[in-house]
Amino acid sequence: MNIIQRLIPASNTETRPGLKMDPKYITIHETDNTSIGADAEAHARLQERGNTRTASWHLQVDDHEIIQSIPFDEVAWAAGDGRDGPGNRTSIHIEMCVNADGNYEQTVTNTVEVVKYLMNLFNIAIDHVVPHKHWTGKNCPRNLLPRWDDFIKRCQIADGWVKPGAQWFFYKNGQKQTGWIKDKSKWYFLDTNSVMQIGWVNVDSKWYFLDENGVMQTGWKKVKNKWYYMANDGSMQTGWIKLDSKWYFLKPNGEMAIGWIQDDNKWYYMANDGSMQTGWIKLDSKWYFLKPNGEMAIGWIQDDNKWYYLDYPNGVMITGTHVISGVEYTFGTDGALIEKEETQEPPPNGGVAETSATTNQTGDTSSELDIPFGSQNTNTTNEEPAP
Ligand SMILES: [Zn+2]
Repeated sequence: MNIIQRLIPASNTETRPGLKMDPKYITIHETDNTSIGADAEAHARLQERGNTRTASWHLQVDDHEIIQSIPFDEVAWAAGDGRDGPGNRTSIHIEMCVNADGNYEQTVTNTVEVVKYLMNLFNIAIDHVVPHKHWTGKNCPRNLLPRWDDFIKRCQIADGWVKPGAQWFFYKNGQKQTGWIKDKSKWYFLDTNSVMQIGWVNVDSKWYFLDENGVMQTGWKKVKNKWYYMANDGSMQTGWIKLDSKWYFLKPNGEMAIGWIQDDNKWYYMANDGSMQTGWIKLDSKWYFLKPNGEMAIGWIQDDNKWYYLDYPNGVMITGTHVISGVEYTFGTDGALIEKEETQEPPPNGGVAETSATTNQTGDTSSELDIPFGSQNTNTTNEEPAP
């Protein structure tokens, strides 16, 4: 649809007063001029040259042209309801040509098209598309009034999605919707301008992810190489979640954690698929033990009737000979305590984590690390311990 611009000069303040307007209505008129050649072009020319009456309108439509004379955000004098009347002050006015040499039916069709365009452009509902008669009772538009209901039906934008430009809108009962809408069992979110959103949106302090089609996502979703988990209501989750009997940890920004994480002063290890690990794990040639609840063990643990010591505070399994709480212990290359015959009941503390710094074979005192990995305080050995 093409709207030809032939604006009244701004200097002609009689017919183009320059009063700003936020259009809320679309008003339909007919020119009542059946003269041969009294088409849109002729009426636009009349307005452009300066109508002798203080009368003007935004658009004139005939069977082959739509011509604009006044910007849509400026007032035209067409309603006849006074200088401050709502018809003049809040409506876009369209004159339909009724020249005898024109095709009136085609003019109606062209008017329907431009009305739909303007409804969408200014978010004007169908009940705000009115005949001139609505404002003053004048019998205008004379030929269209007897078939007004049919005209309105043709103007009404069908329920559903509309994409007039680069953005999608959703109509219901002739009006653009906002907020969450459900269509064919999928959820979409329309912002305050009724524009369908894609990507991350924050609604009522919760994050949601809408795919490239605007569809709200649930479950796992990979965005820019990070995984996120959306509950059944679409809201992005944070913290611990359990799915299919596996635990996952989602950072405060929703990102699925991988590797070591610290929560409530305890360390946990998440595999590359994000699942919390338990039992023995080997990382960078070092062994760690994760309790059944995922918590990294520190101090003595008993596994398969053997004792092991996980160094404080980094949790690394030690091998070789160490003095722990003043007592010397020797551990095999597999980390298992080698019990001396005269030492019948090690360890003395029943596996409770040591809180004091331990000293390893080389006499180094392990430092108070913030991270449980990356320190080097165990014996180096070419043999792989295999708990
Ligand atoms: Zn009229």
